[in-house]
Amino acid sequence: MTLYVTSLASGSSGNVLLVRSGDAALLVDCGLPLRTLEPALARVDVHPAQVSAILLTHEHGDHALSAGVLARRYGIPIVANQPTLAAIEQDLSGVPVQELATGAAATIAGFSVRSFPVPHDAAEPVGYTISAGRWCVGIATDLGHWNEAVVEGLAPADLVVIEANHDQEKLWRAPYVEVVKHRIYSPTGHLDNIAAGRLLARLGADGRRRSAWLAHLSREANTPQIAEQAVRGVLALTGVQYVSVVALPRRAPIHWSSDMHGEQLSLFD
Ligand SMILES: [Zn+2]
Ligand SMILES: [Zn+2]
Repeated sequence: MTLYVTSLASGSSGNVLLVRSGDAALLVDCGLPLRTLEPALARVDVHPAQVSAILLTHEHGDHALSAGVLARRYGIPIVANQPTLAAIEQDLSGVPVQELATGAAATIAGFSVRSFPVPHDAAEPVGYTISAGRWCVGIATDLGHWNEAVVEGLAPADLVVIEANHDQEKLWRAPYVEVVKHRIYSPTGHLDNIAAGRLLARLGADGRRRSAWLAHLSREANTPQIAEQAVRGVLALTGVQYVSVVALPRRAPIHWSSDMHGEQLSLFD
């Protein structure tokens, strides 16, 4: 059973992750306007009617923007915990919903889905692991810091998608008002590059080979090069090998498949 993961959008202007296996497809977050999302799905040969469910991490607009309208138009259930559903209640009339309590597991369209809590300034934000057969993708964005629940949540993942929002020095020089900088920097704001690197190092201490996608990069306070360099630096310093690191582009689709990952693993054996 092959697991395919595609990032369609990542960052404060929209987050959409597509997870596929066989004929089944899930969206994790739906933070693009419909006029952008539908063509983005078409570009990777997916029609919205093929999507079995929309999983929401939290209610912020860059994650939930078109969830309600897409769900209503195509009859796709929205999966989220109760506080997140309550926060977007105004978008949910005529929309099928499936409540998944934080920390609970469910089988959705053949995928094993589990959520775990993340610290962020939303109603009840979560990360997810989604498994197909022996393969697993873990997603944790947005989060102000990481803790044991996040480590435990992400541990089974072969592909880890985590936030590497900003470079701390660049953040303080960025053209944001002070209150925004403090919100981003706070323990319930957004994860910086070094913290993302430390999280991957902690996960990587088990010696398992993983792929890592750095997500939700700030346009003003980060670049893909800076994020990748910082995270690889932390991994090198902590002696963690076997974690390949790629920063996600804001829009262009980027793909991961368990077949590709498995082939890379066999090169090491
Ligand atoms: Zn966000
Ligand atoms: Zn958020």
